[in-house]
Formats: sequence, C-alpha cells, structure tokens
Amino acid sequence: MFPKQVFPETSEIDSNGRLVIGGCNTLDLAEEFGTPVYVIDEVTVRNRCQEFVKEFSSVYPNSKVLYASKAYINPALAKIFNEEGLGLDVVSGGEFAVAKAAGFPLEEVYFHGNNKTPDELTQSLQGGIGRIVVDSFHELEVLNDIALSNGKIQDILIRVSPGIDPHTHAYTTTGIIDSKFGFSIQTGDAENAIKWALNAENLELIGLHFHLGSPIFELEPYTAATDLVLRFAAQFRENGLNLREFSPGGGFAIAYTRDQMPPDISDYAGCIVSTMTSTCDELGMEYPKLLIEPGRSIIGPAGVALYKVGAIKDIPGVRKYVSVDGGMGDNIRPALYQAEYEVVSAAQADRDGDDKVTIAGKYCESGDVLATDIFLPRLSSGDVIAIPASGAYCPSMASNYNLNPRPPIILVKDGASRLIRRRESYEDLMYCDVV
Ligand SMILES: *Cc1c(COP(=O)(O)O)cnc(C)c1O
Repeated sequence: MFPKQVFPETSEIDSNGRLVIGGCNTLDLAEEFGTPVYVIDEVTVRNRCQEFVKEFSSVYPNSKVLYASKAYINPALAKIFNEEGLGLDVVSGGEFAVAKAAGFPLEEVYFHGNNKTPDELTQSLQGGIGRIVVDSFHELEVLNDIALSNGKIQDILIRVSPGIDPHTHAYTTTGIIDSKFGFSIQTGDAENAIKWALNAENLELIGLHFHLGSPIFELEPYTAATDLVLRFAAQFRENGLNLREFSPGGGFAIAYTRDQMPPDISDYAGCIVSTMTSTCDELGMEYPKLLIEPGRSIIGPAGVALYKVGAIKDIPGVRKYVSVDGGMGDNIRPALYQAEYEVVSAAQADRDGDDKVTIAGKYCESGDVLATDIFLPRLSSGDVIAIPASGAYCPSMASNYNLNPRPPIILVKDGASRLIRRRESYEDLMYCDVV
C-alpha cells in the first residue's frame, strides 16, 4: 500500500499509478529538471507552519514559532516562513546572511551554536539580530566585548543542558551532561553563566533555552526538562533573573517510515504548555514568552527526493543492489546515523513489491546506501524512485563529495513547479578554485 502518511499532504496517485505531488507528476518533474531532484510541497510547508502557530498559540497566546534554519533554508523558503509569521533560528553567519538577503525581519532571528565566531557575532549584532543564545563562557566574554565596542546592550538567552536523555540517536542527543552544547545545570556551569551574564554590562539576560536532541518521539523528556529548567531559573530571581523568554527548543518527530507514530503537534504543545504554566504557578513565577524551534517537523514531511535508477547488481543469495544517481552527497542521514526511509517507484507508487533490493548511491563509499533490504516492484534502469520525508537535513547537509553537483530544489503547488535552487554546474564546482 502507498505509505501516504510519510508523503507530503498533496500527494496522490493518478489513474496510471504514478506519484503526483502538488498537482505535478513526479515523472514529468524528473524529466524536466533531471535527477536527482528535491521536490518541496508548498502546501505542506505552509500547513505545518500554520499548525505549529495555531496549536501553540491556541493553548498559549504568548508564544512564537522560530523555524530552525539548519533543517534547510534558502531565500525563497525564508520568504515563506516570514509570510507565515515565523521567526528564525540560525546557527551560522551563512544562515543569518540568507535571512538578511530574504528581507527577513532580523529582530525575529535567534542565533544558536556552540562556537560562534567573533566575526559571526559582530556581523549579526551590527545587522540587528534579535537574540543571541549563548552557549559557553568564552562566548559570554567575547560577546560582551563585541557589544561594548559596538555600543550595544545585546539581548541574550543562555542555553542550559538539563541532563535529560530524549532517547534518540547518540549523534543527535544534545541535552545530556556529556555534550558539547550548553551550560550544564548539574556541574554548576549554568549557575555561573547566569550570574556572569547578569553582571555583564553589555548583555541583557532575558531567558533560558534548552534543546534536547532530535527526533524526539516521547513527550516525557519535554515535560521533565521544562519543569527542571523553570525550577532552576526560579533560584536566580533574587540575583535579578527575570525570565521573560523560555525556549524548550525543537526536535519534534516526524514519520520517516510507515510504522512510526510521532505525537501530534497539539500533544507537544499541550504537554509543554501545561507543564510550563503549572510549574510557574507553583513557583509564583510570571509566565514567560514561549519560543519553540521546529525544523525537521516543518520542512521534513514536505520534501521528496527523486532519483533515477542506473546499474543493478544482483548477487545471488547475498543482496541485490539498485544504484541511483544520487546518494550520500545529497542525503547523508542513512550513512551518518542509520536513518531509514520508505522508497516507492514513481511510476507504480501504489504497488507493493516483492523484489528485495538495497538502494545504493553513486558515491565511492560502501556505506553510501539510502535504504537496505526493502521490497519494491521490479525496477529497471531508467526508472524513477521517490524517497519521502527528505525535506530536512538532506539538502542542508549536502556535499560535493566526488565532485558531484548538488541537486536542484523545486517548489510545487497547484500543478505548477518553481525552481528555487538550480542544479550546480561543473563551473560552480570550480568557482572558488584558484589556479
Ligand atoms: C537543530 C535545532 C533545532 C531544530 O531541531 P529539529 O529536530 O529540526 O526540530 C532547534 N533548536 C536548536 C537549538 C537546534 O540546534
């Protein structure tokens, strides 16, 4: 059966069994734009934005959704996020530059990261960034100096590490004690950072942030960390900490495979808001502004990667490799953290197959595999396959390994397709080279 739940909302199968997204036939898209290509369904992107805004603001009006740019952003998408009323979370000068180029209101941008460079801090400060989310003692000192020399008092949040394991992959777990991210509450670093910031002349500490990891399929880590961090914050009221903003990060899960059942956005909203308000009530704390930072859960379900099948190698009794024209250069997730995906044949998307195949990429690494031992209808060279739930952490993590050009990105809606990033050319690959 077609795994509709992992495909964009507008996905359908036409009368010939072909996969259609945003009213566009995926075989036609593959023909027009070439493969590999990433197709993003605009309706899904906008609906996910609207759902986050609605689900959080309906239970807690003083909330703001910040899109986590690292999941994937470019200027065309930044415009959409702005139109949908979201703020942005950026983690580099490059992402900040995209926000700026897209005319994004920079006071709605939050800058995260465990080792922002002095240049990145200076440029974002001078550009009028809203908040810097400070991650280390080194950054506190550097930022205070930069703010001083620019004649500014910069609003900051402090990223604390609550020591809570969200039970996801070790590479995407961030809020535990053994992490490069944030000030640990357990070790006393968080306390020292708060006190340092409260005394810093050119920093205005207005809130706390944590981010546990991603994707988080359970609600309990959010409620436990929200309660813990608010209780921790309350200890510093006498020191002058007025918690005006509270940010429990992102990490909201999506379904990559048909058997996965992520919580609804309303479940995340309900558990975070009810914990926050009841803990604040108990502590007699004023309710802060709530910031949430979904990345994957907005762009992930909207994206579908299309590839063309090339070589097929059947090793009797061992494995059948079906190689496609992309791979780890455009989707590193299976190689990096054993991510799993559904795969369908674009020309017969409604058919359950009985051919057991492994979808391999074209890169010179044996680990360059997109899906292992999955069942598909019998494929031939030239067939197009579609991999859903590919919008997040695929194009954004893409590389030019083996000097393959990175794929184009197209936005589809109501039967129309719009190129929002063209395919790289060989000239692009050598653009920075000096001979
Ligand atoms: C990566 C990240 C996010 C977004 O995570 P998703 O899983 O894409 O929702 C949010 N906040 C911070 C600080 C992050 O590092």
